[in-house]
Amino acid sequence: MTKFTDLGLNQSVLRAVEEGGYETMTPIQKQAIPAVMEGKDLIAIAQTGTGKTAAFSLPLIQKLLTGEGKRTPKGARALILAPTRELAIQISENVQAYSKYLHLKTTLIYGGAGAKPQIKAMTAGVDILIATPGRLLDLMNQRHVNLGKVEYLVLDEADRMLDMGFIRDIQKIIAQLPTARQTLLFSATMPTSVEKLANSILRNPLRIEVAPAATTAEKVDQHVLMVPKGRKRELLAHVLKDESLSRVLIFTRTKHGANKVSRQLVQLGISSDAIHGNKSQNARQKALNSFRAGETRALVATDVAARGIDVDGVTHVINFEIPNEPESYVHRIGRTARAGATGSSLSFCDHEERAFLKDIEKSIRQPVPVLEDHPFHAEGIANAPAGEDSKPANGGRGRRGGGNGRSGAASGNRQNNGGGRSGAPKPQNAGSGRPRNRNRRPQRAAA
Ligand code: AMP
Repeated sequence: MTKFTDLGLNQSVLRAVEEGGYETMTPIQKQAIPAVMEGKDLIAIAQTGTGKTAAFSLPLIQKLLTGEGKRTPKGARALILAPTRELAIQISENVQAYSKYLHLKTTLIYGGAGAKPQIKAMTAGVDILIATPGRLLDLMNQRHVNLGKVEYLVLDEADRMLDMGFIRDIQKIIAQLPTARQTLLFSATMPTSVEKLANSILRNPLRIEVAPAATTAEKVDQHVLMVPKGRKRELLAHVLKDESLSRVLIFTRTKHGANKVSRQLVQLGISSDAIHGNKSQNARQKALNSFRAGETRALVATDVAARGIDVDGVTHVINFEIPNEPESYVHRIGRTARAGATGSSLSFCDHEERAFLKDIEKSIRQPVPVLEDHPFHAEGIANAPAGEDSKPANGGRGRRGGGNGRSGAASGNRQNNGGGRSGAPKPQNAGSGRPRNRNRRPQRAAA
């Protein structure tokens, strides 16, 4: 069974799925959808990009349609918990797309936005409530939300929710749910904390695992660029001269770092925005929308803010800093290889970060090829003591490697076709209407 039409889904759901451009099911959908429709609890180890949202929302919608439950004031029939506002919004957009020909009521509850509209939306009750744990618990404590009639519970990105310290909130929320319910837990990784939570809330679950870290990593054309810490900004400006890097997600470790990198890009005439937890919900959503629309070429993000960002056609992921957890690396680069598409990643590695790189290579069970074709390579591999950046004598215009006529970044580029989804924004030509880099060095031929 590989086609959505084989599942016995409601015709209106099928029509919406077809219009979304989905034809065949992804591996997690093949395994999860029939099991959830049968009523089984589920524990699924899957990352974003595998099609996991449809894997739980499609059978959930089907069950809500055929079940006998009713909406109750302040209540929800299905509760989907997610770690971040972005992911919650993303899930909600998907659910609304799949149920657009149906009369199901869906609403969102998350922090960082006014509570009043959320309270109002809950007054008459909804079919599907998508929420982040903190605000949901607040509204439950204030008796604006009553989850005593929940039939289905989904925990999405459970590992990240626990990382973010939501375990107590989650336990308090679940304590108010009926025990007779169907529970689905999705997590990219399965540390003992998630295993423990799963054991306490799932009943005889079916366990499925798709796309382990190595598989996702294999789809991405990865490169590492050795560079002294103090020259990463210049390296970034250099690689972005290649216009085939047209929709670029850049990761920094800190919020401050994200702002700084984004500001510098704007100064260089590269349209850019930063997205992180200190920004208001509106600002984050605006940044995300312009990135999606192709108006912003580079989005600079921290790990937490980037969770749940679902943007098709990201041509490149740049790790401005190497993450110290291999899992973050896999998550980050996975943003460019969504649902079957391929993509490229460029990781900037300074002397101190080499140990992180080693851990990553061990975890993905493959070496990340070093791309030498950039002006700072020779400096980056100089055996400087940790923490000391070697300052070049030639002002950073050193070695121009390769001589193959392609810029280093471009040679890492492959076509990212958005995985065959219709309506997916395609990478735009970076040159179109965008201000150019004012400090251009001679441009080599782009791929
Ligand atoms: P997710 O893992 O849920 O974040 O989904 C990743 C992306 O894949 C989203 O843009 C979905 O719209 C898309 N997608 C999900 N299922 C399919 C499918 N069966 N065929 C094509 N695209 C899909």
